[in-house]
Amino acid sequence: MDSSAAPHPRPTSGAPAQPAVRARSLTKLYGKGAGTVHALDGVDVDFAAGQFTAIMGPSGSGKSTLMHLLAGLDSASSGQAFIGDTEVTSLDDNHLTSLRRDRVGFVFQSFNLLPMFTAEQNILLPLTLAGSPVTAEVKEWLSTLAVTLGIQDRLSHRPSELSGGQQQRVAIARALIARPEVVFADEPTGNLDSRSGAEVLSFLRRSVRELGRTIIMVTHDPAAAAYADRVVLIADGAIAGDIANPTPESVLAGLDALRTFETTADTGSTRQVAS
Ligand code: ADP
Repeated sequence: MDSSAAPHPRPTSGAPAQPAVRARSLTKLYGKGAGTVHALDGVDVDFAAGQFTAIMGPSGSGKSTLMHLLAGLDSASSGQAFIGDTEVTSLDDNHLTSLRRDRVGFVFQSFNLLPMFTAEQNILLPLTLAGSPVTAEVKEWLSTLAVTLGIQDRLSHRPSELSGGQQQRVAIARALIARPEVVFADEPTGNLDSRSGAEVLSFLRRSVRELGRTIIMVTHDPAAAAYADRVVLIADGAIAGDIANPTPESVLAGLDALRTFETTADTGSTRQVAS
């Protein structure tokens, strides 16, 4: 059923596409004076359209901060974040609200479905809130998403009648229904058992491979990251590695290199970069 089990067949093309999302010298400080925390320390990174990218790193390394700044959920101290050509870091609150509603999808660790609504009503919620009509085209896209995510026979059920994995698949469909330019997923398998988590990750990957979507996922789990097309490693608020076509083994090796970096950094050696 899951044709995406094949090992990372990525289309290649001559000209590099415009990144869907990028950060330039992106910095976030918390606190003041001696207690200042450099949560992000001048991050430069591009995320390609049509790719599934995982952001990985130790706890406290800045993964969530990076995602929140890229998605316009939090403000930067300096530097820039872009979605397409739009500089997210320069938008006022009204424009940020429109950007998050119209151009970005979110999948959270807690599924955040509305309990009184059916799965279908939950999926359509972004359109309902935006006052967009449910056209024939929307119905067709809903059907494609439901089939791709394996929830076509669950659409009339309420969240309490669905397993955790099914609820998260509904949440993914909700994130994709308005065809956002990018979906940010924050530890999407954090509340799932390993089997349901593997299913959700397969479906996220299918959303990218078969439906051409762009997904950026924060995770601390190497097995989860290995479902992505690319892993960006972050340590101490800085990009510390980049792994193409990751496997659980190459992700673990990259994380080990980060630990080596942390150890050697303590003794004053130069930064070690995983590749
Ligand atoms: P990760 O997602 O990799 O675990 P975070 O981005 O949450 O890391 O945090 C990066 C750093 O910023 C950590 O040192 C964390 O303690 C700090 N931090 C995050 N949010 C806040 C906040 N609201 N106030 C103060 N420090 C924060």
